[in-house]
Amino acid sequence: MNLRDIAAALNLDAELLQGGTRIVRSPIDGTEIGRLEDDTAETADAKIAAAAEAFKAWRLVPAPRRGELVRLLGEELRAHKEALGSLVTLECGKSIQEGYGEVQEMIDICDFAVGLSRQLYGLTIASERLGHRMSETWHPLGAVGVISAFNFPVAVWSWNFALAIVCGDPVVWKPSEKTPITALACQALFERAVARFGDAPAGLSSVLVGGREIGERLVDDPRIALVSATGSTRMGREVGPRLAQRFARSILELGGNNAMIVTPSADLELAVRAILFAAVGTAGQRCTSLRRLIVHSDVYDTLVPRLRQAYAGIPIGNPLDKSKLVGPLIDRDSFEGMAHALENAAAEGGSVTGGRRVLAEEFPGAFYVEPALVEMPGQTDTVRHETFAPILYILRYNGLDEAIAIQNDVPQGLSSCIFTTDLREAERFLSAGGSDCGIANVNIGPSGAEIGGAFGGEKETGGGRESGSDAWKAYMRRQTATVNYSDALPLAQGIVFG
Ligand code: NAD
Repeated sequence: MNLRDIAAALNLDAELLQGGTRIVRSPIDGTEIGRLEDDTAETADAKIAAAAEAFKAWRLVPAPRRGELVRLLGEELRAHKEALGSLVTLECGKSIQEGYGEVQEMIDICDFAVGLSRQLYGLTIASERLGHRMSETWHPLGAVGVISAFNFPVAVWSWNFALAIVCGDPVVWKPSEKTPITALACQALFERAVARFGDAPAGLSSVLVGGREIGERLVDDPRIALVSATGSTRMGREVGPRLAQRFARSILELGGNNAMIVTPSADLELAVRAILFAAVGTAGQRCTSLRRLIVHSDVYDTLVPRLRQAYAGIPIGNPLDKSKLVGPLIDRDSFEGMAHALENAAAEGGSVTGGRRVLAEEFPGAFYVEPALVEMPGQTDTVRHETFAPILYILRYNGLDEAIAIQNDVPQGLSSCIFTTDLREAERFLSAGGSDCGIANVNIGPSGAEIGGAFGGEKETGGGRESGSDAWKAYMRRQTATVNYSDALPLAQGIVFG
């Protein structure tokens, strides 16, 4: 499918993709695929004002009816999975299977949110006072700002959007400036759902096209009650304090530096397959990509050669071709960041295999690389830093305590895993003294989370949670209500007043 066919299939107004000054290029071959108009301060203000206005009406719509709108969005996504998945691949360069997978994730979260729309449970709490009833209720919060990264150009929005809409909150979305076309496509699909729904207020969903300046407007606007921001730790360091300054809520989903511990009892066949998907999938550009492999000395010399062999056969190339597992990096900066990290790792005593640019003649305007394996003498500064590219650092350990200490000794805390068939090792890894990450898996790689669980991480990953479990609570405000149905006025704590 080319962009023209995709845009037609998605009902995307072709006018939106031409005439502006923001040039969008496909990382597949570097060609221009659109010229978009950036939002200005005035248009951004109008969209935020419309969201704040929409909130006044939407918060009063019964939640199961709000869920109906998300159900319709899920239907649109099902019907347009192939076109939207192809657009994801075209705009961000991940393999077509992962492009489809990303849309499936959107469908899954819509299903989850529809069910949630008939729940949103509160509590009743025992009151200490006679003739009193105490309860806790969840109310809609307000307009939500979503800031997203290039590597999951649509799924991250849907994790936030589907929950926010059933929770009664309009959403203003600032997608990555590298992937704004997929965002406009999602908006077009949502508008189809709205047309079928009938009576949704205008301004329930909008997209802000632009760079960080336009994101900053969302962050600083007092009409935005919550900002869910996904991206680098650098971005989170700027956004977090600004939101705190105005006492707004935040969900920060930032960088990761995810590890796998491979123990002597591990099923190595399973481990190699898991390593491959987690380390080279999306060309190492997932927040949950495997970046550190911590291998027990007893299996090191068996596992590492097998891994080298598996790496030698990885099909790299045009991600629209189903036989290719690794597509391009997003841009030149990303390639240069990878080359720089590999130079530093070598200077710190690392032994580097792979990491060279490939297919440069076929795609001079794009950046395809061989995924790199780097055996390191220890956990150096370079290893402790997240480089958003397919580099896997390999470290050796001798005891599980040492392995867990290495795994936790990085500033980030997103995802982690252990490969073991020893129950005691698995349970120690999952215990309070084990992995310090938001996600901890046993015999599964660190990437590829299901939407049913809460997603997010600790430390410099930002501490936010979105998607499943009770992540919805961040999009609502909690109200404690006590009702006195007696004819007396007892005070709490037995206080006598007057
Ligand atoms: P980025 O930080 O460069 O940009 C992310 C988004 O933030 C973009 O929309 C950008 O315009 C916006 N932004 C940047 N500075 C801003 C500011 N000061 N105010 C408001 N908005 C601002 O990240 P990227 O290169 O697009 O994505 C890669 C990074 O994202 C990696 O670090 C990766 O680990 C992280 N990521 C994290 C998760 C997660 O769930 N934890 C998921 C995906 C990606």
